[in-house]
Amino acid sequence: MSKNLVTGYPRIGEHRELKFALESFWGGKSDFQAVEDVAKSLRAKAWITQKNAGVDIISSNDFSYYDQMLDTMILVGAVPARFKSIDDKTAKYFAMARGYENGVAMAMRKWFNTNYHYIIPELTGDEVFKLDSTKVINEYKEAAALGIKTKINLISPITFLALSVTTDGSDQFLLFDKLLRVYEELFIQIGKLDDEIIVQLDDAIFAIDIEPKLLSLIKPCYDRLCNVSSNIKVIATTYFEHSNEATKVLVLTQIWGLGLDFVAGAKNIESLEEIAKSDKVLAAGVINGRNVWKNDILKTKELLEKISTTISKERLIVSTSCSLLHVPYSLENEDKLDNTIKDSLSFANEKLNELTITSRIFFGISNDEDDEKLKENGASINKLKNSKLIHNEAVQDRVNKISKWSRDGEFDERIVLQKAKLGYPDLATTTIGSFPQTPELRITRRDFKNGKISHEEYEVFIKNYIRETIAIQERIGLDVLVHGEPERNDMVEYFGELLDGFAFSSNGWVQSYGARCVKPPLLYGDVSREVPMTLQWILYAQSLTSKIVKGMLTGPVTMINWSFVREDIPRSEVATQIALALADEIDDLQSNGIKIIQVDEAAFKEGYPLRDENRASYEKWAVDSFKLSVSSAYKETQIHTHMCYSEFNDIIHTIEDMDADVITIETAKSGNSLLKIFKKVGYTKEVGPGVYDIHSPRIPTVEEIKTQITLLLEVLPKEQLWINPDCGLKTRKWEEVIPSLENMVKAAISFR
Ligand code: GLN
Ligand code: ZN
Repeated sequence: MSKNLVTGYPRIGEHRELKFALESFWGGKSDFQAVEDVAKSLRAKAWITQKNAGVDIISSNDFSYYDQMLDTMILVGAVPARFKSIDDKTAKYFAMARGYENGVAMAMRKWFNTNYHYIIPELTGDEVFKLDSTKVINEYKEAAALGIKTKINLISPITFLALSVTTDGSDQFLLFDKLLRVYEELFIQIGKLDDEIIVQLDDAIFAIDIEPKLLSLIKPCYDRLCNVSSNIKVIATTYFEHSNEATKVLVLTQIWGLGLDFVAGAKNIESLEEIAKSDKVLAAGVINGRNVWKNDILKTKELLEKISTTISKERLIVSTSCSLLHVPYSLENEDKLDNTIKDSLSFANEKLNELTITSRIFFGISNDEDDEKLKENGASINKLKNSKLIHNEAVQDRVNKISKWSRDGEFDERIVLQKAKLGYPDLATTTIGSFPQTPELRITRRDFKNGKISHEEYEVFIKNYIRETIAIQERIGLDVLVHGEPERNDMVEYFGELLDGFAFSSNGWVQSYGARCVKPPLLYGDVSREVPMTLQWILYAQSLTSKIVKGMLTGPVTMINWSFVREDIPRSEVATQIALALADEIDDLQSNGIKIIQVDEAAFKEGYPLRDENRASYEKWAVDSFKLSVSSAYKETQIHTHMCYSEFNDIIHTIEDMDADVITIETAKSGNSLLKIFKKVGYTKEVGPGVYDIHSPRIPTVEEIKTQITLLLEVLPKEQLWINPDCGLKTRKWEEVIPSLENMVKAAISFR
């Protein structure tokens, strides 16, 4: 009997080998064979690493050249018309992901509440599916050739359809039967691979509040697939939340087992009775696949013991809570981290060991070495818990004594003071903060970091950039200027590096989409600000112009949502600590003459919980911490915030509660349709709806921007509107930015 299972393993490579191979191929510097060679060795390494760690159930088909949803489209032959004429399989695959001359790339969306992005299937009402099982079958055989019998991972047909869109607006679930037939065909082939084979169907959609209609698909879906071959044992797997509604139905199907997340979905515990009554096996996801801190093995064992009071041990498998895709590979290459911090971390490979040790201990088959490891585990967890590194009494003291959670004055009063003091016109023009990050800029920042150039040289370079950026903005005639953020590599990392409580790995990369990876900061301890973080640069920029320069900060919610956050205290408390640091920064800025300060909350919406039942508590700490961040602002200091999206319909009241004087948002692609909600709820604060899309190199014409402004004016009066691009300009080139902004200013002026 198998004792433990890994839901899925990362695939980009410990040193991002797949990324570099892909980029070289895309750049025409190598052929696809080179990518395949790298991929093959990565897969082999993944399987062997897991086997050597003592993992019993290891996955195949968890590898992907780009994305597992894209792979599923190829698997079932759901290829949008614009790519159908491409004969070459590889070219077609990457054209779907990245676009080609005759067709734009398919859109992406966040994979539930992770920072991974999947490609959204585009289906038509009369989609004709056609099985291509090559990848699935080949990967299984490849592992088998190495002596490793794998479980095959597949996206379930229900989740696949639920995450799809239809181009003709028809109901994608009308395709359910057709799609299921393709899966049945696939199962016939899989059934022939071996006498006994596990298929994991990922049904992550069950972790959200789903409609009854979806629940009604479970029985036909799983029963039909389970009936295909007696050689196949199906395990239905969900993660990121509880899936109690679906579990009730799943236990009535012919599946072999269920994989549930007991870390992010602690409420799954409520389903244990039901599972116990059935004959299903339970893969209990207790090793956190979403965070990077060491698992407390004793605590996990207690949880497993608790589960086993309802479900007998014979039917239990110890599992990761979700795929390990969401954590970096290994701590092996981390030699710059503080030892205590490093010792409290666990990346994918370390998690494999946690999993196998936990399962041996739980099942009573541990050896001396395991018992030793268990002691070490407890010791490292206690060491960090009690370490001065994470506890800062001054910070805790301050948090406990907060008496002022928001700024002085109501908006109505503030805005009168602000307009009088700042004197900006209606339809005031501004930008979101960053200006082009040129290759020289990136090189200079890196050289400074590596000690290749001196502090003085670095400062001269950055100041030059700021001086030019200010001059350019003055020439263009923008009303509110920015310094351009040349000192920032990333809007979270920059602040994390200056704040106490954050650490940075050297190699802790996590796939974001395709070949793109991010290296989230490690937020391990109490956060405090030792010195001003932005003051020097903003003041320098302000000294160069008589126009207003807007200070630029990243908000607490975004810092948290884009980091790996400690778990020993609630997120609300971490957010409070960050907010206090930001409040100090704002105070420094305004007392030195900065009149407008923007606090970016780019990731505010993406941090929303998957389940409605958890929304209120998220909104509470998110709004509270934002308001606390700006609580130091004088009434006449104008606070802006920026968010990178435009769908505010369901969160508009929360946005109002944040009480920012001005919010800039991304609306260029949606005309004025998404702005209407602001009018509908009688939003009185000022709004800067982006008037052109910065994600494209295209230069918008004056006329186009005028059309966009006309649309905006249909919804909100000019006194309430600001004119700005959709987002920061860091990914654009100066040749694109300057004429675009010139046109934007001309368009705005024509309405005054
Ligand atoms: N101020 C940031 C910038 O302009 C905001 C970035 C963002 O919203 N993602 O780059
Ligand atoms: Zn943005």
